[in-house]
Amino acid sequence: MSRSVLVTGGNRGIGLAVARVFAEAGDRVALTYRTGKPKAGLGCLAVTCDVTDAAQVERAYKEVEAAHGPVEVLVANAGITRDQLLLRMAEKDFSEVLDTNVTGVFRVVKRAAEEMVEARRGRIVLISSVVGLLGAAGQTNYAASKAGLIGFARSVARELGSRGVTCNVVAPGFVETDMTRALNDKQRAALLGKVPLGRSAQAQEVAAAVRFLASEDAAYITGAVLPVDGGLGMGH
Ligand code: NDP
Repeated sequence: MSRSVLVTGGNRGIGLAVARVFAEAGDRVALTYRTGKPKAGLGCLAVTCDVTDAAQVERAYKEVEAAHGPVEVLVANAGITRDQLLLRMAEKDFSEVLDTNVTGVFRVVKRAAEEMVEARRGRIVLISSVVGLLGAAGQTNYAASKAGLIGFARSVARELGSRGVTCNVVAPGFVETDMTRALNDKQRAALLGKVPLGRSAQAQEVAAAVRFLASEDAAYITGAVLPVDGGLGMGH
């Protein structure tokens, strides 16, 4: 059965792979982008939305609902980094990351939940990171945001479970996207050296986990954190 799916930050990287996997399965997929031209060819509805702006979030939902009906599967994927060591980190860089990665997720999840509660079904998947569990030097802001998503998701899972809505987290490790292309060779080698599987992930490998959590097969899974990290965060 075709579902109305919304993927934030779905125009590139992990979000694009996620949008693609649902579109290929026959779902009605909407993705958000902020600037530039949306990527064509997926049959997805592209809507502009900056998740730090509540009015844009509301407008995006209206557009998606008019075209595809209420969102039944939400993948909150949009996220940013602003790396800097703690002693040099500006408060602005800390709060911008929290505003996008946590409050942005709050904005889109709250809006989706209104309709999901009404329909008494829904699937919410948040994209966190192994860094939220392990921490990373230079990423106090990002790690705090990604760890915060886990507490957020588990609270949502408790609040909405009785209404047939699940809320789960995918925690990727090192995935080949624009975000990680910023790393230099030394940083890449150091990171890969800690990955038991000895390689980085492709975005499609994260998308496969998201698809599973949104599927009927995952009907009894909520409040879970599913690592897709080649073993990097094992034990955390
Ligand atoms: P990219 O940098 O390739 O893409 C980030 C996406 O987030 C873009 O689509 C971007 O939109 C969107 N975005 C950023 N800020 C906003 C905003 N304010 N409003 C709306 N959209 C926004 O990153 P990835 O694909 O690698 O990352 C996707 C998610 O996965 C992130 O949450 C990231 O933290 C997480 N992750 C990534 C890992 C990796 O190794 N790559 C590892 C673990 C987690 P636009 O195209 O408009 O700029």
